[in-house]
Amino acid sequence: MRNQGIGSWPARRNRRTPRRTALRYEGRALDYAALHDRCTRLAHVLRDAGVGRGDRVAFLGPNHPAYLETLFAAGLLGAVFVPLNARLTVPELLHQLADSGSGVLVHARQPEGRVAELAAGAGPAAVLAVEAGPGLPYEELLAAAGTDPLDEEVGHQDVCLIMYTSGTTGRAKGAVLTHGNILWNSLNVLVDSDLAGDEVALVAAPLFHTGALNMSCLPTLLKGGTVLLESSFDPGRSLELIERHRVSCMFGVPTMYDAMTAAPGWASADLSSLRMLLCGGAPVPSRTAHAYLERGLAFVQGYGMTEAAPGALILGRADSLDHAGSAGVPHFFTDVRVLLPSGEEAAPHQKGEVVVAGPNVTPGYWNLPEETAAAFLDGGRFRSGDVAVVDADGYVHLVDRLKDMIISGGENIYPAEVEDALLRHPAVAEAAVIGVPDPKWGEVGRAVVVPRPGAEVTGEQLIAHLEGRLARYKIPKSVVLVTELPRNASGKLLKGPIRARHGSAP
Ligand code: ATP
Repeated sequence: MRNQGIGSWPARRNRRTPRRTALRYEGRALDYAALHDRCTRLAHVLRDAGVGRGDRVAFLGPNHPAYLETLFAAGLLGAVFVPLNARLTVPELLHQLADSGSGVLVHARQPEGRVAELAAGAGPAAVLAVEAGPGLPYEELLAAAGTDPLDEEVGHQDVCLIMYTSGTTGRAKGAVLTHGNILWNSLNVLVDSDLAGDEVALVAAPLFHTGALNMSCLPTLLKGGTVLLESSFDPGRSLELIERHRVSCMFGVPTMYDAMTAAPGWASADLSSLRMLLCGGAPVPSRTAHAYLERGLAFVQGYGMTEAAPGALILGRADSLDHAGSAGVPHFFTDVRVLLPSGEEAAPHQKGEVVVAGPNVTPGYWNLPEETAAAFLDGGRFRSGDVAVVDADGYVHLVDRLKDMIISGGENIYPAEVEDALLRHPAVAEAAVIGVPDPKWGEVGRAVVVPRPGAEVTGEQLIAHLEGRLARYKIPKSVVLVTELPRNASGKLLKGPIRARHGSAP
C-alpha cells in the first residue's frame, strides 16, 4: 500500500481480521470489513465534495462511529481531520472552523439551530448530517457511494489532524499532528502497556480530546481489538457495560474513575475482566487510587499533552504503589528531560521545566509560526510549561505549572481566556481567574473581580455574561468581588498572592 498513514488502518485490519468486531455503539456492531467499507465509501463522498490532499474536514459531535469514519476517510485522501470540542459555544467553534479553513463539516447530535448558525458564520462549503439536522444525509450518501479501493500516497510526515488546545494567551491554537506522531504514540502505548489484540476497550471519554483517541481508541484498533464507544460518560452505565461486555481496558480522567466509585452499582459490579485502567490528563487522587486497589485494580497513569499526541510519561501498574505520586518514566520512543532555565539538565530533585522530544511530538501549531517558535527549544523539543523533579530512580514528579492553567474534570481551562471574556463586561475593571480545589472536578475556576468605580454588579450577573460566550466548563463556579488586585511593577497580575488569598474552597 502506498498509504502509510492511519487512513490505511481499516484496510490493513480488513486484510488481517475482517470478521473481528471493531466498534460497538448503541447496540450496533461493526466488524473491520464493515468499517473498511464505510470509510472507503465516505472517502469517495468527501472526494466528490471536492476534498483532496491537505484539505481540512471537521467533525462536531459526541463520540460516534462517524467520528472515526471521518478521521479514517480523511486519512485515505491525505486530507486533514479537525475534531471539534462539542462542549464549545458557537463563537468558539467558529474560530476553530475559520482558523483551520475547514471546507467540510460532519456533525452528529447537535442541539437544534447550532449547525445552521455555524454554517452561516463560517460557511464550510459542505455540511454532512450524520443523523439529523441541516446538511446532506450521511447514511444515504454512504449507501450510494463508490467502493473502489483508494490508495493515495500518504507518508508519516503528512498532517493527519489538527487538534485545538487553548493557550495561555487565551486564543485556541491548532496543534498539528502528523500520521507519524499518531503512529509513534500508538506504538509507545503498545510497547509500554499490556494492550493485546483481544481487548475490549470502553471509550466513554470524549474523542475530541487526544487522550481517549490516541491512548485508547486508536491503539486498540491498531491491534485489532474492539472499541465499545459511548456517546457520553455515565458512571453507572460504564459499570454495567464493563460487566456485560467483559471490558478489559478503559481510558478516563480521574473525575470519571472517581464518579464510578460513587455510583450505586460500584460495590456489586463484576470488574474481574478489567486488565488495564488507563488514567491521564490530571493526577490521580490517592482516594481514587485506593478505591480501585481495594478491588484489586491498579491504574496505569499517563502524563502528556495534545502536542505530544499525547503520551510523554507513563507509570505502569506495577509502579503505582512503589512510585505513587510520580507521573512515571518516559515512553519507550520518547525523551523527557527536566531542564533548568539555563537549558542545562536539572540534577535529581532539582526543579525544572518538563521538555518532551520524540517522533510523537507535533511539528508545531497551525499557521502560528511565532507561537510555534516560542513553544520549542532547538531540535523540536517541546516546552510543556509543567515543572517537575526527577528522583534518584529516574521517575518524574510534577510539582508545579509555569503556565496558568486549571484542570477541571479533565478539561483544561486557560484563565486568560476567561479573564478576557470577563473584561468585556462594562462593569468589570479587573479580573483574575484562579483554580480552587473541588472534590468532584479536581479544580474549578473562581473569578476574582474588581468592579469599575460606581458600577453595581453581582457574581450572578457576571456568570450570566459568560454563558453563551464560553463553554460551560470554563465558567467560574464562584465570583469574589474585591477592591483591588495585586500586580507587579510591570502591571502583570500576581496570581500567587491572589491564589493564597482567595484560592481555598469553598
Ligand atoms: P486530554 O486533552 O485528552 O485531556 P491531556 O490533558 O493529556 O489530554 P492537554 O489537554 O493538552 O492534554 O493538557 C496537557 C497538560 O495537562 C499537561 O501539560 C499537564 O499540565 C496536564 N497533565 C496531563 N496529564 C497529567 C498528569 N498525569 N498529571 C498531572 N498533570 C497532567
